[in-house]
Parts: sequence; structure tokens; C-alpha cells
Amino acid sequence: MPDDYGRLLDATIQHLEDLKSRGVRNVAVAPETLRALAQPAPQDLRSSRREEAPSSKSEIEMSLLTSAAADNLPGSTPSPATRHLAAPKRSEGGSSPEKAAAFAALRERALACVKCPHLASSRKNVVFGVGSIDAQFMFVGEAPGADEDEQGEPFVGKAGQLLTKIIQATGLSRADVYIANILKCRPDTPGQSAGNRKPTSDEMATCIPFLHEQIDLIRPKVIVALGATAVEGLLGKTLGITKLRGTWKTYRGTPLMPTYHPAYLLRNQAMSEKRKVWEDMLAVMEKLQMPISEKQRNYFLKA
Ligand code: URA
Repeated sequence: MPDDYGRLLDATIQHLEDLKSRGVRNVAVAPETLRALAQPAPQDLRSSRREEAPSSKSEIEMSLLTSAAADNLPGSTPSPATRHLAAPKRSEGGSSPEKAAAFAALRERALACVKCPHLASSRKNVVFGVGSIDAQFMFVGEAPGADEDEQGEPFVGKAGQLLTKIIQATGLSRADVYIANILKCRPDTPGQSAGNRKPTSDEMATCIPFLHEQIDLIRPKVIVALGATAVEGLLGKTLGITKLRGTWKTYRGTPLMPTYHPAYLLRNQAMSEKRKVWEDMLAVMEKLQMPISEKQRNYFLKA
């Protein structure tokens, strides 16, 4: 049973999640509150809670720094009045303390990983993942770029802002889903200050156990693999993404929908390509028995 400290912590996390899902990126905290927060909690209260939710708390703190602004999916955000209809969000019952603790321990291991010395020495942050560890809907991308490396959170750059829009168009928020990458470190680009490169097979093979463990703990009902590298990391080398997208696959028993990477949609602005990604999202929403409005069904169809 949660104690008072635990209930307060849960309520605070819930409040921050609600603010975040409404687009709030910063919260004002009075100096005296900050000073009080810097004091350690009484020992007896801390010991019963320390392992219960550290990962989700730090994920929330980190994601509060994130910009969710984007303008690539016109008219795609459901009205606040219908947002609550968008089910499902989290698996029922919430996290067990054991699950939260296992996730936090996994995160600690990833944050300390130096198995790819060239990436460990060039990274600013290990980009572990963000969102709800009870999510039914999980997105997997390729690897962090410069923005993600800087902020320690996946999909926060231009492609990430588009992904956020896509998530919001389903009626969910980033806090309702889980977002991770095949690689937790930014692929290094020696001598270049900008640009990205595809992860090598060795890098993917070295890092993929972290993602496997994340998926095993979260147990999402559906995984969306964003782009060819994500599909390759999860399913091995198969067909090209153009052939694969829109067709259900299975990853260790979990339905997996391959779709285009949002970066591709930024490069190719054709309505037809946006519609394809949206059709893949509709298929996922149907699989999760989420309500779909007429407006949602008709996104990106020519008027
Ligand atoms: N592209 C990805 O595949 N992942 C990120 O986190 C950002 C951009």
C-alpha cells in the first residue's frame, strides 16, 4: 500500500503528466519549494518509495524540457472535448513497484554503458527512452540525432516534433505512449558538427538488448517501427520499408506495424505519403480498439 509520501509523489507525477499532455513545458517553482525539495526526505519515507517510480519521475522531468510544437499535420489535434475518448492509454492496474524498479535498474545500466567506446566518448547523453512504462502503444526509431543527444530524450528535433503531432492526432500524448530507439547513443560523426549517420550492424547488435528488455518490461500491445533501420533492428533484414509499411508483422508475439520514419515525411512533403503513415496509425488504433472519429478517418484525403 502506498504511504502518504508515495501518494503525494504519485499525485505530483500525475499532475506533471497532465500539464505535459496539455503542452506545458515549464513549471514555476517558488525558491522556498526548491530549497525544500533539495532536502532529503525523511529516511523512513524514502526507503519505502525509492524503487517505486524513479524512472517515470526522471522521464517526466526530462520531458518537461521538450518542445512539442510542430505544424506539419494540419488540423490533426483532436479537440480537448474529445481527447478523453481516446482509449487506451496505459495498461490497466499501472506499474508494480517491481516493474518500475526493474525499469529504473535497466535505465541505470544503459546510462553507464560504454560497450561502444567511440559512441560513449562522443555522446552528451544516453537517450534511453521516454513515456509511460505501462504504455500499450510503443514507437521505436533508429538512433538519437544531435537534438536528442543534447536533451537526452528521443524524438525532440524536427522529426520528433512531427512524431509528436502524429501521436496527438491519434488523441494520445507523448506521456501516454513509450518512445525508444534501436541505438541509445548518437552515432558519432567525427569531424562533422552536424548530420547523422545510420548505425552500423555492430552498434545495433551491441545496443539491441536494452531495447529488448524495455519491450519485455513494458509489454506494449502494439509496436510501431519507424523506418527501415527500426524494422531491421527488431526483425532483422527483410524487405524494404516501402514494401513493408502498412503490413502487420510480429515481434516476439507483439504485433508490429512498420511505417515510414517522420524524417522521410519531412523530406517528402507529398500528401500521399502522409496519408500512408496515417493509414498505418489508423490500423494501429483499430488494433488497440481506440475510437476513431470521421475527421480522423479523413485526414490527408483530398477534399
Ligand atoms: N530519429 C530517430 O530515429 N530517433 C530519434 O530519437 C530522433 C530522430
